[in-house]
Amino acid sequence: MTEADPRRHFLPYGRQAIDEADIRAVVEVLKSDYLTTGPKVAQFEAALAARLGARFAISNSSGTAALHLACLALGLGPGEAAIVPSITFLATANAVRMVGATVVFADVDPENGLMRPEDLAAAFARAAAAGLKVRAVFPVHLAGQCADMAGLAALAKQHDCAVVEDACHAIGTRHACGDGSMAAVGGCRLSDMAVLSFHPVKTVAAGEGGAVTTNDPALAQRLERLRSHGMVRDARDFEIAEMAFDQAGDANPWYYEMPEIGWNYRLSDIHAALALSQLNRLDHFVAARRDLARRYDELLAPLGDEIRPIRRSRFCEPALHLYSVLIDFDGAGIERAQVMNRLRAQGIGTQVHYIPVHRQPYYRRLDPGLVLPGADGYYRRTLSLPLFVGMTPADVAHIVGCLGDLVGSRRTRAAS
Ligand SMILES: *Cc1c(COP(=O)(O)O)cnc(C)c1O
Repeated sequence: MTEADPRRHFLPYGRQAIDEADIRAVVEVLKSDYLTTGPKVAQFEAALAARLGARFAISNSSGTAALHLACLALGLGPGEAAIVPSITFLATANAVRMVGATVVFADVDPENGLMRPEDLAAAFARAAAAGLKVRAVFPVHLAGQCADMAGLAALAKQHDCAVVEDACHAIGTRHACGDGSMAAVGGCRLSDMAVLSFHPVKTVAAGEGGAVTTNDPALAQRLERLRSHGMVRDARDFEIAEMAFDQAGDANPWYYEMPEIGWNYRLSDIHAALALSQLNRLDHFVAARRDLARRYDELLAPLGDEIRPIRRSRFCEPALHLYSVLIDFDGAGIERAQVMNRLRAQGIGTQVHYIPVHRQPYYRRLDPGLVLPGADGYYRRTLSLPLFVGMTPADVAHIVGCLGDLVGSRRTRAAS
């Protein structure tokens, strides 16, 4: 067995890549007049919208806040439902609950964790049988891959539902549009909104941060209003003229109105400066992740059926956020916990993305009888290996070597 090399740094499953330009960008803000929402937020939003091909990008304090705002902007609420795949981070489903709506969990492809059109159709049927009115569908681009977005969007349209992409894993990915063309995730070609996260483990880091992109001016205006207390400062939107305007008919300089209740979900200029600096290197990040993933693919190929990369979706050109593999732990005769613990002892961090959300105690209480075999099948076998900019091909070889020693097929082990 390959022993831990003390000269080797610990390899987490993901981490940020900060350079001197990033540090300079943040320090510049600290020396400026604005710490919270100021010129850097506006610059970042413009750059993000331009990069992804969306008309509007509304930045937020986190991806979770962005998901919550997307639900609020749709007016989703009690007595209504939204469909969320069970293999995702908690926040996707939780956002639906934050506005008091019901979560209908969809099953996923057991080979890559993505909600397919047939999974969505089954979830619509289950919702209908329960008498639920579904208003929104949340495709999740797990690990940076997209399922058949055209198929999902067509089904959502048939049911008169909005589509909100959880694109937290997928900045830099391009998805198929169903007409032979490809479009950047976040450009909302086939959706109403897309949600991004700039948590440090994601491809672009802000520290904490998120965004919603959309092409719909009404949604954009609502998202902007709700992220800042529900306040409006544009005189054209004022309702109470006798308070808003002076004798000459000019808006009073201190005046603002709150037509509906909102939150403080703003991004700060400190965070936006980091995110903007990182966004400038997105092409480099995507290329580096692709090279590492290709190396993994090559080195895993001979390891036998017991370890293989998740199935690649033919509906996208992914910018992988995670390098997840499927391992037949039963067939290999080793428990996942043992594999993770031994790898950790060898300086290799791994993670499981994700525990099916419908199995969380909170959601189980809401829908105790739900069985989703695809999600369970994916969960049973998945393991995410280190993938981050700054890793080397030698790191990949080291990881695959250690993993192969633990769970490679008997044939492979006999040969080595
Ligand atoms: C990270 C993540 C979120 C939440 O983003 P935060 O910025 O951490 O709040 C939501 N959904 C998915 C799929 C994520 O990976």
